[in-house]
Amino acid sequence: MATRNLKKKTATKYIFVVGGVMSGVGKGVATSSIGLILQSKGYAVTALKIDPYINVDAGTMNPTEHGEVFVLRDGYETDQDMGNYERFMGLELSRDHYMTTGLVYKTVIEKERNLEYEGRCVEVVPHIPQEVIRRIKKAARTSNADIAIIEIGGTVGEYQNILFLEAARIMKLEHSADVFFVLVSYLPIPSKIGEMKTKPTQYAVRTLNGTGIQPDFIVARSDRPLDEKRKEKLAVNCNIRKEDVISAPDVESIYDVPLNFEQDDLGNRLLKKLGLKAKKHDLSVWEKRVFKNRKSTETVRIGVVGKYFKTGDYVFSDAYISVIEALKHAACEIGRKIELDWVDSADFEADPKRLESLRQYQGILVPGGFGGRGIEGIISAIRFCREEKIPYFGLCYGMQLMVIEYARSVMKLPNAHTKEVNSDTPYPVIDILPEQVEKLRKKNFGATMRLGHYAAKLKSGTIARDAYKVDSVLERHRHRYEVNPEYIKQIEAAGLVFSATSPDGILMEIAELPKKQHPFFLGTQFHPEFQSSLIKPHPLFVAFLKAAVRTIG
Ligand code: GLN
Repeated sequence: MATRNLKKKTATKYIFVVGGVMSGVGKGVATSSIGLILQSKGYAVTALKIDPYINVDAGTMNPTEHGEVFVLRDGYETDQDMGNYERFMGLELSRDHYMTTGLVYKTVIEKERNLEYEGRCVEVVPHIPQEVIRRIKKAARTSNADIAIIEIGGTVGEYQNILFLEAARIMKLEHSADVFFVLVSYLPIPSKIGEMKTKPTQYAVRTLNGTGIQPDFIVARSDRPLDEKRKEKLAVNCNIRKEDVISAPDVESIYDVPLNFEQDDLGNRLLKKLGLKAKKHDLSVWEKRVFKNRKSTETVRIGVVGKYFKTGDYVFSDAYISVIEALKHAACEIGRKIELDWVDSADFEADPKRLESLRQYQGILVPGGFGGRGIEGIISAIRFCREEKIPYFGLCYGMQLMVIEYARSVMKLPNAHTKEVNSDTPYPVIDILPEQVEKLRKKNFGATMRLGHYAAKLKSGTIARDAYKVDSVLERHRHRYEVNPEYIKQIEAAGLVFSATSPDGILMEIAELPKKQHPFFLGTQFHPEFQSSLIKPHPLFVAFLKAAVRTIG
């Protein structure tokens, strides 16, 4: 019988990544780096992110609080860490790879309503962890992974993620040889003491132990590398072997992290613990890019103009992480480094003379966004870029505002606007997508935008077509508004070119000014930043930066 000859596939291995001491220490990058290293040893790896929020997905979370909403190819709105997984591991993940507390509860409650629990009492334990486990296994199975890495959001000791840790504990109990734990922790060096302290991590491990989980590895994040003394202390106090404490000092670029981990031989040690052997060792493509990145000394100065960059006294750049990374990838491609400034558009509303400050940049980028705050300032910045021939790149809202600016200044349509901001505008050059009207009327906001990847066909002889070098592309979207079809002819007659449209020609996907008129004045209705990586920089970002260095020295 044919099946008898089939070689039995070894059981899928599961690595849970949890955080200790505090958030924001790079758990997502650690997870992605571990994934990349295991891939380089010849294994099929996938990744999942668990977010302990009641929000059913990340689409309704405020980016200034939670960071960027990363849109998957299938349109699922997820956490920014999913972007890191895709960028590092070259994966295209689906909705199966992301879950929140809200989603898990919603599923359990729906099953209960459908009598899928056959009349039993449905309880937080075991039904919630069981649903979590079902989802983890399904994601590993459908992606045919040898190894699935699951990042549990938050830090140990919080109420929020306790049921996810419980799910992980149960998985370990059921598959003790196939489930492993990595604790990513933080070791502070208080300035007055001047010494790296291990105590907070010791407490984190103890708290984790309290949930029935013992870490197999500790990834120790700190300003500096861990010395032997610290490793010994952690080993003794955390019930772990010294070799299983991995030093993870701050590095200049997140893309250095996998190489740093490999210096501590993390890949082979992990595999040994998993009971696997390396089938190959090949990080060379990655290494090449990282070395190229390190070598570049010249910079390209880009100003990102927008609103809500501030949180208290700090710039919260997490809201634009994919944009920042895409700029870095493209800069690496052209042998430079990005010098990035956050320019608050409200400044231009207060004092238009400040627009002159935009001359210090070689290019201006306006990222996606919603609502009316800071919009007039952005529009005047776009006008300045158009008139002064400063390379301009607009993403989603950045494209819509570019069309508005063009309508107002070139087509002389006073107060032209998007209906999103002014529903009474006499010239609604940006209008709501027809299928969105009913959704907004019913206040049906969750996961209802035009989301995920759609095809765009490119017009030959345009900057966009020259950059992509293909006739059709798939790009990821997240919007409710579009260039109003009733104005398209008029806009084109006034000189703006729609260099990409949906295959049926109805939806405008890219707008640009011809090369003869402007070195680079281009906006996309989609979000190209979601598909850029160090290995495969996005062609439009590369074209933008090339134009920036060519035009302004
Ligand atoms: N607010 C605009 C829309 O909904 C743009 C969205 C975005 O930039 N992601 O169409």
